[in-house]
Amino acid sequence: MAIVQLQNVHKVYTLGTTKVPAVRGVSFEIHKGDFVSITGPSGSGKSTILNLIGCIDQPTEGEVFVQGQKTSGLKDKQLTVLRHQTLGFIFQSFNLIPVLNVKENIEFPLLLGKTPMNHSAKEEWLQYLIEAVGLADHVKHKPSELSGGQRQRVAIARALVTKPQIVMADEPTANLDSKTGQAIMELMQKMNAELNTTFIFSTHDPGIVAMAHHVIQLLDGQVIDDHFVEAGPDTKGPSAVYNRKAVGQE
Ligand code: ADP
Ligand code: MG
Repeated sequence: MAIVQLQNVHKVYTLGTTKVPAVRGVSFEIHKGDFVSITGPSGSGKSTILNLIGCIDQPTEGEVFVQGQKTSGLKDKQLTVLRHQTLGFIFQSFNLIPVLNVKENIEFPLLLGKTPMNHSAKEEWLQYLIEAVGLADHVKHKPSELSGGQRQRVAIARALVTKPQIVMADEPTANLDSKTGQAIMELMQKMNAELNTTFIFSTHDPGIVAMAHHVIQLLDGQVIDDHFVEAGPDTKGPSAVYNRKAVGQE
């Protein structure tokens, strides 16, 4: 079963008397454990689509399904549960809480939701995340005492702390130098491999797109390509590219 499915989704923004068609008839499926890049030039609808999947916004027409649930049919309470327990968002601007240190920022979402974890399991999990993002030496630092790359690492750990099934990242490397960007992507790959977390990230950087297993390309609010990249058993990089439409999997 698809973990995310969009069916003929449209999103029209109204600016005064002007209608802006940001997304125009988009359909695709994402499966559990996918490492998906949504790519396309600026203004092609990447952020809008991530916001629709993340239930931050509602489509004007069409349906979005998350874990088989039609998001438009959910009541506020069910949406809150979905946002807290299934979805994680890595925001471009990090949105860290300045007065909290690294560990407290990462732990924060656990205080909001009802993630069942006893104290020692929680401490162990926090320790795992802090080490995974390479911040074991910085647990007591406040955001103002960290570099941009380190703040982004905190934001990633915080997005993962509730063990969401799906993590969305809107241009996660856009504000970072290429070395830090690469490290952030490798961290997301590690989480994808170790925890089978589904990652959906937007980017227009070809180097980042090349790391995805599933590429959805947008232009002017429409999907112009949707393909999987499979790594062959004897190769380190992608060895076979096939188009889902071409092999009739849609
Ligand atoms: P991308 O993330 O690929 O740059 P966006 O999804 O942000 O693209 O935007 C797609 C289109 O929708 C653009 O033309 C943009 O100007 C427009 N748009 C996005 N958000 C809004 C909004 N809140 N109000 C009006 N227009 C918007
Ligand atoms: Mg955007």
